[in-house]
Amino acid sequence: MTTQDPNTYKLLTPGPLTTSASVRREMLVDRCTWDKDYKDMTQEIRTGLLELAHVDATLYTTVLMQGSGTFGVESVLSSVPGINDRVLVLVNGAYSERMCQILTYHKIAFDRLDFDWDQVPDAQIVGNYLQSHPEITIVSMVHNETTTGLLNDIAAIARVVKAWNKTFIVDAMSSFGGVDIRVQDLGIDFLVSSANKCIQGVPGFSFIIARREALEKSRGNARSLSLDLYDQWRVMEKDGGKWRFTSPTHVVAAFHRAMAELKAEGGIDARHERYSRCNRLMREGMEAMGFKAYIDTAHQGPIITTFFYPDNARFTFASMYDYLKRHGYVIYPGKLTERDTFRLGNIGEIYEEDVQKVLRIFKDYLQGECHG
Ligand SMILES: *Cc1c(COP(=O)(O)O)cnc(C)c1O
Repeated sequence: MTTQDPNTYKLLTPGPLTTSASVRREMLVDRCTWDKDYKDMTQEIRTGLLELAHVDATLYTTVLMQGSGTFGVESVLSSVPGINDRVLVLVNGAYSERMCQILTYHKIAFDRLDFDWDQVPDAQIVGNYLQSHPEITIVSMVHNETTTGLLNDIAAIARVVKAWNKTFIVDAMSSFGGVDIRVQDLGIDFLVSSANKCIQGVPGFSFIIARREALEKSRGNARSLSLDLYDQWRVMEKDGGKWRFTSPTHVVAAFHRAMAELKAEGGIDARHERYSRCNRLMREGMEAMGFKAYIDTAHQGPIITTFFYPDNARFTFASMYDYLKRHGYVIYPGKLTERDTFRLGNIGEIYEEDVQKVLRIFKDYLQGECHG
C-alpha cells in the first residue's frame, strides 16, 4: 500500500472535517464585511438554515455567532436564562457535561439529571423530575453526543418538555444538517450548531435557530457582551446581515458554498443516507475484525462510532494512529475516562470507498504492526 503525502490526509474526526475543494476555494477571496454582496451571503445563510430546520420564518430566526460551537452553546446558556430561571441539564456525555460547566461559570442556577453515557435520557424520568421541580423553567440537552456517537431521542424529551411548558435548548452541533430535525414541530426554542459539522463548512462560527418570542424575551439577560445572543441578532436584523463585530468572512463564504453543496447532494435526507450507510459499513467492518463498539446499534447515531481497544498486547493507539495517518486518514482518540477507546467519524467528504479503504488499512495494521 502506498503512503500518503502527510499534508493531504482525510479527517475521520467530526469537526473540523474533510471539506470539498470547492468549499475551500471560496476562502481564496478577501471580502468586505460592509459590502452588500457579503451581507446578502449572511442573509442567504440565515434564511437557508430556517428552511433546513423546517420552521416558519415569522416564528423563528437565525443568529450567527463568531467562534466554535461551544461559543454558540455558551451564548445561548448565558443569554437566555433570566435571574429567576432555573435550568435542567440532561447529562449523558462530555458535551452535556460542558453545558453544566458553562452554567457554573456564569453562576446560573441549574440542576443536572445524569444518565449512563451509553443510554438515552428517559423521557419518563425527565417528566417526573419536571413535575416535582416546578422551579425548573428551561431544559437543555445534546442531540448527538459526539463523545460516544449516541443519538439522543430529542422527540421523546421534547414531548415532556413542551407538556410542562418549559423552554427547550438543544445542542444539535454534530447532527443538524445530517439528521433531519423538525425544529418547530418539536417545539425547540433554541437549537445550536456550527459551521464545521454536518453542513461541511470550515470552523469559525456557530449558529442558533431561535424561536423569535423566546429570543425577544431574553433581551437584557446576557452576561457577556461578545456572546450577547439578543444583541447579535438585533444588529444582524437591523443592518441586513451585518455582524456585530468582525465576522470570519472566509468561513462565511465557505459555509455559503457548503450549504449549496448540501442542497446539490439532495438535502438532509440524502446526506443522512450517505452518513448512515458509511457509518453502518464502518461499524460492521470493524466488528468483523474483532473491534467492539461502545454504543448499542439501537442508539448508534450516523456520525461517529466509539470502539474499545482490541484485546491485543501489541496494540497501541499511537501506532494505530500513525499507521492510519501514513495511509491517508486521521482518527480521534476516545473521550471516555473509564475505558480505553478510540473514535471513527464518518461525516464530511467521506464516501463508501473511503470506508472500504480505511477498513483495509486497519486490516493491514492488525496483521502487520500489531502482530509483528
Ligand atoms: C463539536 C461539538 C460541540 C462544539 O465543540 P467546539 O470544539 O467548540 O466546536 C458542542 N457539542 C457537540 C455535541 C459537538 O459535537
